[in-house]
This record gives sequence, C-alpha cells and structure tokens, in this order.
Amino acid sequence: MDIRERQNHTAAITYSQRQRSIERIAVLAYGACIVALAVQIAPEVAPRIPLVAGAILAGYLAADLLAGIVHWLADTYGSPHTPLVGPTLIYGFREHHDAPEKILQHDFVETNGAAAAAAIPVAALALTLSATAPAALFMKTALAALTLAVVATNQLHKWAHTTHPPTAVRVLQRLRLILRPEAHARHHTTPFRTHYCITTGWLNGPLERLRVFAEVEKAVAVLTKRNRSPTAT
Ligand SMILES: [Zn+2]
Ligand SMILES: [Zn+2]
Repeated sequence: MDIRERQNHTAAITYSQRQRSIERIAVLAYGACIVALAVQIAPEVAPRIPLVAGAILAGYLAADLLAGIVHWLADTYGSPHTPLVGPTLIYGFREHHDAPEKILQHDFVETNGAAAAAAIPVAALALTLSATAPAALFMKTALAALTLAVVATNQLHKWAHTTHPPTAVRVLQRLRLILRPEAHARHHTTPFRTHYCITTGWLNGPLERLRVFAEVEKAVAVLTKRNRSPTAT
C-alpha cells in the first residue's frame, strides 16, 4: 500500500510501505552496527586519544565530501525514474529543490533510512578490522565516524531548514560543528549549483574556490556530449 504519493514535475513517485519497512530495518541494523563498533573501539580510546581523535576528524571530513559528491550527482545527473537510485536518492534531492520545506514533513525513518541502508556495508567492513593495531584502529574509527556522519547528514540538513531547531542543535550550528542554515541557504540561491556539502559544510569553501563540481560537469559534458539534467534547478 502506498502511504504517500510523491509528485515530481510530471512524474509520480511513491514512497511505498515496502520501502519504508526496508528503511526501518536498515535504521535498526545500522544502529546495531554502530553500537558494536563503539563497544570494540571504546577500550582503545584512553591509551590512544590523538589517533582516535584524528580518525574521527578524518571520518567527519570524509562524510562532508561524500555527502557533497552524492548530492551533486543526484542534483546533476539521472532522474527520479533512474533504476534503484531514482526513487531512493535522486527523487528526494529534486523534490527538495522544488519544495525545500517538504523535508520538514519527513519523519525519522524517511529522513535517515536510505543513508542507514547505504552505511551498513561500510559499518560491517569496519567491524571486521582490528581494534588493536594502530593503522587498523585508525581506519576502523574513521569508517565508524564516516558512517555515523553520513547517516546523520539528512537530519543535519533538515535542521538547517528548521526555523526553531532544538537549542543544542542551534548551539552546534553556531559553533559551525554542523551545517549552518545561513551557509546552506547559498545552495538554495541562484544558480542552485554550488555548496553541495550538507554535513558540516566545511568543504564548500575550498570546493567552490577550486570550482571542482563545475569543472567536472564541463569535462563530463565534453566527454559524453550530454549536459547536466535540466530538471535540477
Ligand atoms: Zn541540491
Ligand atoms: Zn536544503
């Protein structure tokens, strides 16, 4: 049974009960993975604080970059009808440009479910790594932080659109530890093709100064003779 009909341009996309059930299981499964990772890593934190802190920072930065790349891809190529990623990924970003406030209607599962499903294989890989050898501990911790930040990204993005977020969230935004509404607003401003990073937004400045996404789009257009999706405005 369809629980909501989603409209996008001329196409109707449905958020099915089946998709929601899968996302609910994914949230629970990812939650189990991150708790298990925390249990594995916790005994190593005190004796190796610099290493663990560096790994968390690396994972957090990588999440902002990854979120930016995925967001750029979803805004730029394909359509909501592209197999697999169309309804689960592209649709959400395109809907967000058509009606940014609709993100506020998404509950916890709809906000975080798809990201949780994508994070499970990475978290599972991290679980297999040693927590004692320094290099393995760094990678394990960085991957744990990466998945946690990736799963939180849509929530952080949603809070950047929330007029009155919880006080603790507002404090984190003002400390620039998570995406600030003022910074994210630049993505929703003409030409709608900049500032794709939506975890912390830390990498938007360097990526825009280097014109990374714009130059890659140009290269793709030359190589494939196809321009970016006209629907992503
Ligand atoms: Zn976008
Ligand atoms: Zn937004």
